[in-house]
Amino acid sequence: MHEFELIRRYFSSLSQETSFVLLGQGDDSAVFAPAPEHVCVVSTDTLVSGVHFLPNLAPDKLAHRALAVNLSDLAAMGADARAFTLALTLPKTEPAWLATFSAGLARAAQASAVSLMGGDTTRGPLSLTLTVFGELPAGSGLLRSGAHVGDDVWVSGQLGAAWCGLQLCTAAPAWLALDQVARREALRAFDLPVARLALGKALRLAGVSAALDISDGLAGDARHIARASRVSLSIDLDALPVFTPLLAAAPDRATALRCALAGGDDYELLFTAPERCRSTLSEVSKQCDVPLHCIGKVHPQAEKLITYSANDEALAERIQSDVLGGFDHFSGVS
Ligand code: ADP
Ligand code: MG
Repeated sequence: MHEFELIRRYFSSLSQETSFVLLGQGDDSAVFAPAPEHVCVVSTDTLVSGVHFLPNLAPDKLAHRALAVNLSDLAAMGADARAFTLALTLPKTEPAWLATFSAGLARAAQASAVSLMGGDTTRGPLSLTLTVFGELPAGSGLLRSGAHVGDDVWVSGQLGAAWCGLQLCTAAPAWLALDQVARREALRAFDLPVARLALGKALRLAGVSAALDISDGLAGDARHIARASRVSLSIDLDALPVFTPLLAAAPDRATALRCALAGGDDYELLFTAPERCRSTLSEVSKQCDVPLHCIGKVHPQAEKLITYSANDEALAERIQSDVLGGFDHFSGVS
């Protein structure tokens, strides 16, 4: 199949002209513009087969995942998602693969109201680069650098379910014996991540001070907020929303906490907010139907970027030294 035929057949219908996308696919470039008093927000991510996704991942799930992980970065800014481009590298032209991929991409794009305004199609080892475009009222984005001493630290959703899903798709440790319901939830969290777009926007409007998405795991990503904001954070391990079946299955609490803190792929939002936002945040949680958990506090800059505490002090010390040991050691949880 010729490249133009491929694009026409599988990708043209995903391009919609909107108030943001003035000219979509089909010409030499796309043209887009933010609303008056708004700025454009851009983020890009590449997914390489065997590196960022398992080579046997179904093409519709791959499409969903590629869009969701990109949109998660816009969600973390509190931006409205508007459009994206897709640079697709394919080893061969397989109509069945492409049809399933484009149907999955169409569903995901429609669910987030984004238009596929352009891209590129080449031959080579399977990889996808998506660039997502959003908009924000000028000067209003949720940055990593906005945390203030005295703010609360919050996280959305639950932690560790996606890690369990990944284990189930690869080589799960023997102790990870989950029942049917928990297995399904874990696989869903890993396979079909959802970008917290509505939540990110609601958090921006609620006046939170800093935010990011925790795609690499809370332990590592929390350090980015601390560094960018020149503060330190304390995190109460007892307040972490660990995926309940993981807590039940793990040989001990430290193991479950390590998976939840360092497992990654959760695509939840970690954010800081002044104490006066607490009641607004409980409204936001209800409106967006996403649990929000207050898990810590922001403190003045200190040598330790993150301090972990728990009622069980020995447990907190174990986790603290695991974190200092670095991610490689920390992810060795089998
Ligand atoms: P050029 O040779 O100018 O790079 P292409 O032949 O690569 O043009 O693309 C033709 C049109 O199809 C462009 O508008 C481009 O944005 C669009 N396009 C190409 N590949 C994709 C894709 N994978 N998804 C969406 N649009 C695509
Ligand atoms: Mg091209």
